[in-house]
Amino acid sequence: PEQLTNLADMVRERARTRGNAIAYEFEGRQTSFAEFDVKTNHVANALIALGVKPGERIAYLGKNSDIYFELLLGAMKAKVVMAPVNWRLAGPEVAFIVSDCKAPVLFVGPEFITQVRNIKAQLPDVRHVITTEGGAPEWQDFITCRDAVSGDDPKVPISPKDIAIQLYTSGTTGKPKGAMLSHANFLNLVQAGNEAEKPEWNKWSSDDVSLVAMPIFHIGGSGWGVMGLYHGAKGVIAREFDPTKVLDFFEQSGITKLFMVPAAMQFVVRQRRARQVDFSRLKYMLYGASPIPAALLKECIEVFKCGFVQLYGMTETTGTIVALPPEDHIEGLERMRSAGKALPGVELAILDPDGNRLPPRQVGEIATRSGSNMVGYWNLPNATAKTLGSDGWLRTGDAGYMDEDGYLYIHDRIKDMIISGGENIYPAEVESAICDHPDVAEAAVIGIPDDKWGEAVKAIVVMKPGKPATATDIINFARERIAGFKTPKSVDFMEALPRNPSGKILRRNLRDPYWAGKDRQVN
Ligand code: ATP
Ligand code: MG
Repeated sequence: PEQLTNLADMVRERARTRGNAIAYEFEGRQTSFAEFDVKTNHVANALIALGVKPGERIAYLGKNSDIYFELLLGAMKAKVVMAPVNWRLAGPEVAFIVSDCKAPVLFVGPEFITQVRNIKAQLPDVRHVITTEGGAPEWQDFITCRDAVSGDDPKVPISPKDIAIQLYTSGTTGKPKGAMLSHANFLNLVQAGNEAEKPEWNKWSSDDVSLVAMPIFHIGGSGWGVMGLYHGAKGVIAREFDPTKVLDFFEQSGITKLFMVPAAMQFVVRQRRARQVDFSRLKYMLYGASPIPAALLKECIEVFKCGFVQLYGMTETTGTIVALPPEDHIEGLERMRSAGKALPGVELAILDPDGNRLPPRQVGEIATRSGSNMVGYWNLPNATAKTLGSDGWLRTGDAGYMDEDGYLYIHDRIKDMIISGGENIYPAEVESAICDHPDVAEAAVIGIPDDKWGEAVKAIVVMKPGKPATATDIINFARERIAGFKTPKSVDFMEALPRNPSGKILRRNLRDPYWAGKDRQVN
């Protein structure tokens, strides 16, 4: 295959080799690769006409759409950096991100026009608000802007090191950080290793149909969409995640592969129980971004009967760096609990706090080195230095270990690790034990201040409807399954756990009230 050096050339190349094929479909609208090439030229020329300079950021506040991908790749052709904003954030948080990236242009989806009106005064750098669908009388709309300029290729030179997108982290452990990902970061993932080295599930064919079901403000949406375009496959774009519609897409669009987070799989499988669906074309279901409950994975494998692939990665690594292929999804196998092995071109290491490599089966910080490590965080030099280090090894902030064969086992976020009486306790392990209780719906485990032990283990549990249980039941149940020092000392009950849009439990929200006025030591 050809070696591309930037994603703008990827668009041109696909127009040349697959011009008549459908690049993506959105709510009945189809766009061929040849049309996509011209549409992105229009976007680039429109941005240049608006006075946006190379290297500047533009922001997008909207749900998934075909227009988003035109803006993303069109911006790249003008060497302008797209920064998609999480639309679930509150007004002041949106204002913070848009201001932080000094975007002169903000694209707004129809659902967020009122919100932007409300925060407009807090956006001093925004010279143009442009609506993507429908209009607001005081602002320009996208189609008018696009049609006012030429569709000729602006031919702005792009280097592999130029930033392709500024994608904010999910904000699970703190405020979202803007990870700057370069063209080379993306292309490394698809171009590293030869075809023979590539795992079977990661080989795309031109008749693959991929569903972009996760939000584009996360790597699982934008990165996944770009991967499909790279492979010349057809992408079906879902405006937002809706489990009923996902099943409709399986039938109507013949989806062959998709990526979902475990929380989304839970909804889809629940829908499936109520309805017969033809998913005979589905080849691979890829999942990751948070731990998956064993029972959920088992049910999905039984129901969907396709290849399952677990992915591990982060925004800062341009997405997937580790994968567990379908052939390792075998009940009873130790590897079933692993996140898999490094992809071609990716190195992994487990480090101690001083940065020394640890041998197999010792738990430490997961670190990675590859051409897909981000360039840095926007405007956060200290966090960048801490994460990227000076040795090319990106510190993931996740704890885990590797076995002798290079399979990676993820324990938890280092920031969430509980130190009680000098012992390290990973909440995910305790949560998993508690969730084996038949009456428990979900559980979160945190460390709270304790005079004697430093921290004490506390579980916050959501029971299944109509299933009362006492704290003592839960504690006794856990004690039989995990070591005494890991067993919760106390249990609280809640109606639902706080989660972010990726379905990740926000343990810091549960923990903070207990630590008010106290200093929690984090390694
Ligand atoms: P923030 O960095 O703002 O706190 P975040 O880390 O959740 O948010 P992302 O970059 O979207 O933001 O998520 C990456 C993290 O997701 C990883 O560091 C890891 O903790 C978790 N993760 C990813 N894949 C898996 C997986 N397969 N199993 C368990 N956890 C995973
Ligand atoms: Mg993170």
